[in-house]
Amino acid sequence: MRLPLFTCFALISSVLMLSAAPQPADLIITHAHIVTMNATREIIQDGAVIIKDARILAVGPAALAANYTAPKTIDARGDLVLPGMINTHTHASMTVFRGLGDDVRDRLTKLIFPLEKNLIDRELTYWGALHGFIEMVEGGVTTAVDMYYFEDEVARAAKKIGIRGVLGESILNFPTPDSPQPYGGLVYAKKFAADYRHDPLITPALAPHAPYSLDADHLRLVAQASAELDLPVLIHVAEMTDEITTLRKNHHMTPVEYLDSVGLLTPRLVAAHCIFVTDSDIALMKTRDIGIAHNMVANIKSAKGVSPALKMHDDGLRVGLGTDGPMSGNTLDLIGQLGYVAKLHKLDRKDRNVMPALKAMEMATLGGARALHRENDLGSLEPGKLADVIILDHESTALIPLYDVYSALVYAAGPRDVRTTIIHGRVIMEDRKLLTIDVTEVKTRMRAIAARITAAVAAGIK
Ligand SMILES: [Zn+2]
Repeated sequence: MRLPLFTCFALISSVLMLSAAPQPADLIITHAHIVTMNATREIIQDGAVIIKDARILAVGPAALAANYTAPKTIDARGDLVLPGMINTHTHASMTVFRGLGDDVRDRLTKLIFPLEKNLIDRELTYWGALHGFIEMVEGGVTTAVDMYYFEDEVARAAKKIGIRGVLGESILNFPTPDSPQPYGGLVYAKKFAADYRHDPLITPALAPHAPYSLDADHLRLVAQASAELDLPVLIHVAEMTDEITTLRKNHHMTPVEYLDSVGLLTPRLVAAHCIFVTDSDIALMKTRDIGIAHNMVANIKSAKGVSPALKMHDDGLRVGLGTDGPMSGNTLDLIGQLGYVAKLHKLDRKDRNVMPALKAMEMATLGGARALHRENDLGSLEPGKLADVIILDHESTALIPLYDVYSALVYAAGPRDVRTTIIHGRVIMEDRKLLTIDVTEVKTRMRAIAARITAAVAAGIK
């Protein structure tokens, strides 16, 4: 079809006008040194990230910003802009116990379980979680995968500060702080899951504690509930030598084989630790496409061992990083742990080339997203993904000079270098000031709780 000349001009000029008119956005970050973590691991020296409706609308050179208008623009002045980090395994509320009996033998049964049984209630869980989430936001963590009791209180804290959470209610074979009946956690978890089913920030999950702390019938019930309700399952796996011996003796299986036998080894599973796994376990975990939370720093503190997580990562398994709870790993940011992860794997394999800095960054970002089967939404700065973005201060002493950005981030940077944290398109911390909560109030509450716990410990909790 031939159009009259006038019509052609009109069409061309309206297209030009359209492209010239700035499009509306919610937030523009410009003049940023962007570490995209996209498929080609592209780095943009002077770039812009455009955010709208909680998602990334565009990423490109700084000139791109001129095509958009937004109520807020952050001039990053050369600061490093990265995808938010994903803490794939933690128990944030345990900040209330951080530093207690760190170097005690049999700590889980002799100290942690009695402390929880006697002291954990809704109040401790909420304020402990909020305190933990502050530390995560301050350290550039934008998604927390948490398992604990009263997980609805953890969700309330996550919503309050504005952090993304995959939150699992704990299920155990004995009475727990929120469930007087053994296995009461399963009922609690179903209610919690129903309440948070459609929340944009919270993904409810089931958290059977470990293969040895639930019987096979209840592990099957968890698998069934996960399938029926499409809920992630979070669990500790192959973490203890006793766990290996007991399952070998009673079931003639490794923990991974045992979980497969009860139907839990599915893409919905995120298995924390996986220290004592065999090559055939790793092959099985890959076939079943499960996620793995690698908690290197917590594992070496407890002298348990080095998980073959690097082999898993190199074999294409879905490996993310976790801090574990603050009684285990003591800190909740990932950026301060990246160097340990890389260095321990190098030492373990006696080869400095096996784990370049980029692999540690991959585990902290895309790896975590893959472990959750959320790589379409999280883990890199690409159009269409959720806007979880962190900004690191390029003036930080540790980041000067900046020859290799991955080397700087993994071996030199720390949580203090995080200047701004954006989650779901919302600025949660800007220039190190938390915008969504009163940090002083949380610290005051935490000190009061600590005084209560100190008194209880002095009175001899057993
Ligand atoms: Zn744990």
